[in-house]
Amino acid sequence: MSIKANAVVAIHYAVKDEEGAQLDSSEGKEPLTYLHGANNIIPGLEKALEGKAEGDQVEVTVAPEEGYGEHREELVEAVPREAFGDVDQLEPGMRFQAQTDKGPVSVVVTDVQEDTVTVDGNHPLAGKSLNFSVKVDSVRDATEEEISHGHVHGPEGQEH
Ligand code: ZN
Repeated sequence: MSIKANAVVAIHYAVKDEEGAQLDSSEGKEPLTYLHGANNIIPGLEKALEGKAEGDQVEVTVAPEEGYGEHREELVEAVPREAFGDVDQLEPGMRFQAQTDKGPVSVVVTDVQEDTVTVDGNHPLAGKSLNFSVKVDSVRDATEEEISHGHVHGPEGQEH
């Protein structure tokens, strides 16, 4: 069958940035399994896979607006050093969960000064064009339950 809404799709993938550096890959792991048409994966990749079938190879470049969004400057914030309380060694690259009025947000430290720490709440891949190389591993119909939940069940998906 070909990939369309309410198909459960398993893919092997590798993703590189514009400079050709590999960012992520499913090599040596189970394929990534998702429910097509349910926003489980980024829009640009979902669009490129529409109509493809098992065994197909897909190469696609996904722009930020079809990927993880543009890098938003308002998500970069300087916060008082005291906000990190008992953390001794603050260094750029460290990740924290920040509590916001919209719930917990994962932020990365980008700069450490004596009194202030700059954190960035953007997705690590925000603002990047992503080059995906994808192989369709399998395609099956979703169950009624999977469709109503909006995600895949079973060993490759949600266990509940
Ligand atoms: Zn479920």
